[in-house]
Amino acid sequence: MQEQDFLKKHFSGFYKANFVEDPPEPGQREFGIGEFGRKITQRHLSFSSLSEFNSFLQKETPFFVSYSTALYNQPSARPMEAKGFLEGDIVYEFDADDIKTPCKQIHDSWACPKCNAKGKGAIELCTECGTPVKVEQWFCEECLGEAKKQIFELKEFLEEDFSFTEGISINFSGSAGFHLHLRGKNIRQLPQAARIELLDFLTGTNLDLEAIGFLESGKALECPKQGAFGWPKKIMLGLKELIENAPSDKIAAIAGVRDSNAKKFLEKKQKILEGFEKGMLFPFPTKKSREFWLALVKFVVEQKRLDIDRQTSIDLNKIIRVPNTIHGGTGFVAKKISWEELKKFNAFNDALAFSEEGTAKVLINKAPRFNIGGKFFGPFQNSEAELPLNAAVFLVAKQAARLVG
Ligand SMILES: [Zn+2]
Ligand SMILES: [Zn+2]
Repeated sequence: MQEQDFLKKHFSGFYKANFVEDPPEPGQREFGIGEFGRKITQRHLSFSSLSEFNSFLQKETPFFVSYSTALYNQPSARPMEAKGFLEGDIVYEFDADDIKTPCKQIHDSWACPKCNAKGKGAIELCTECGTPVKVEQWFCEECLGEAKKQIFELKEFLEEDFSFTEGISINFSGSAGFHLHLRGKNIRQLPQAARIELLDFLTGTNLDLEAIGFLESGKALECPKQGAFGWPKKIMLGLKELIENAPSDKIAAIAGVRDSNAKKFLEKKQKILEGFEKGMLFPFPTKKSREFWLALVKFVVEQKRLDIDRQTSIDLNKIIRVPNTIHGGTGFVAKKISWEELKKFNAFNDALAFSEEGTAKVLINKAPRFNIGGKFFGPFQNSEAELPLNAAVFLVAKQAARLVG
């Protein structure tokens, strides 16, 4: 197909000009590759060195390249058990597709395969007939910003609660998210049970509030004192922030109480904050103090818990995109980034594999307004346009456009 040849030619050119320095210890990893529109079509590949891997990229130029988070004795052996598992990194994946952002109402659209109803936004079931719909997903700076926020929160968890500061590597996923790889010596040896425990902690799963000092039943209204670690500390910070800054109607909505009561309560702000210092929750003016505080605590947990893809982080046989390779569904580079760079990272500028030099004529089926390299394009609907190379690659890779001529 013309489109695939076009992408392959440019992707190969990218690999000839850019040596991919990842992953570490390539000789002990399993690799997988994918074709146009299919992320993994072949697994159990192995390369003895980065130079062998790079010449494969230049010559064969797969549309997607993934590597195992695990290190094996014989990475190409099959079945899986024959590989000889040695140890494994942990990868946390954050995907903007999973975060409900308002911008989805602008750039996503759905269509019902049964009754042909159509609409804006990312919904699951048809509003007319209830059938699961097909969603056309796009992503923008705003949704990527939300995924980015989560990655910074994860950093805080890892550093503060586990003192994991070494062996951390972050990259853009090449599409709507970010990946964080933990490769420290102490991490790699963790058995699966410990990986699950770690994930439960990060996602606030099965958090036993009484056990960590909140509102033990049959006792006075208690909370952990300041200076505690882990979840008690996070929750206390969140409560403090709510009491200090949230307007009464917000507190009322969270706790399901009347605004007038919440207002009266917040008049005692100073007393409430002093109570925190002593490990006491100030009684709410109506009798339901325990329910009131429990609702606030649960709200804070919901805000601070991380939304991590569960399967990726505990599956020992997982393969995941090689940093600095091209994502064949966008034409973007799964760019490796430092914490410093992440702050101002803008995928639509910083993860481009190609420049705006050269143009391609395309017939665009449908695309929302998008930004590439600081320039805006679209929205398009059944229109022909001559676009700069980087914008054309994006639309063709996303299968939103075909080449003309
Ligand atoms: Zn329908
Ligand atoms: Zn968005």
